[in-house]
Amino acid sequence: MVYSMSQKEEFEVVNRVDPAFKRAVSGMHGAEKISLCFQCGTCTAGCPISRFNDFYNPRRIARMIQLGLKDRLLSNDALWLCTTCYTCIDNCPQGVEMAYIIRALRNITVEERKVMPTIYKQMLSNILKTGYVYVISELRIKRRIQHGLPPLPKSDSKQIAKLFDATHISDILERAETFDRVD
Ligand code: SF4
Ligand code: SF4
Repeated sequence: MVYSMSQKEEFEVVNRVDPAFKRAVSGMHGAEKISLCFQCGTCTAGCPISRFNDFYNPRRIARMIQLGLKDRLLSNDALWLCTTCYTCIDNCPQGVEMAYIIRALRNITVEERKVMPTIYKQMLSNILKTGYVYVISELRIKRRIQHGLPPLPKSDSKQIAKLFDATHISDILERAETFDRVD
């Protein structure tokens, strides 16, 4: 196949190997067992997303991490399609926790590419403002009262802001670009 210069460069960048990538991922919480994956494919067989997306395949994602294909992995927004259903974790004979590994990849993506789905940014913003992932409407609060439920605990927005600063989430909230859908 003959590539134009820009296509060739793009190909080289996307397929660049980072030998330190596997170690970096396996140092993250929940991703410690990535080296144990022996490519049986059981995770992919049960994964609801891999049926609908050509890129999204937990077995292949595990292999790409092992091979150090960082750029190819992190440049694909399909990583955000994982539903966190945990089917892969329930079925893996090696105890590899792919759902947590995907979470680790998302965290690296946000840190390095400064990009995340719009809904995640919205949820972060809600937590900062209200202490809750979703904004609780007045109607819901009235319904709770009608049903005799206790008031919802009030959040401490100053403490939340401190946590956001300490974990660099404030910075991410300010600078991260967003996208609405994965094609
Ligand atoms: S089920 Fe476990 S060992 Fe098998 S491919 Fe998936 S992660 Fe690897
Ligand atoms: S947790 Fe994610 S990777 Fe695992 S089976 Fe569910 S959708 Fe697939």
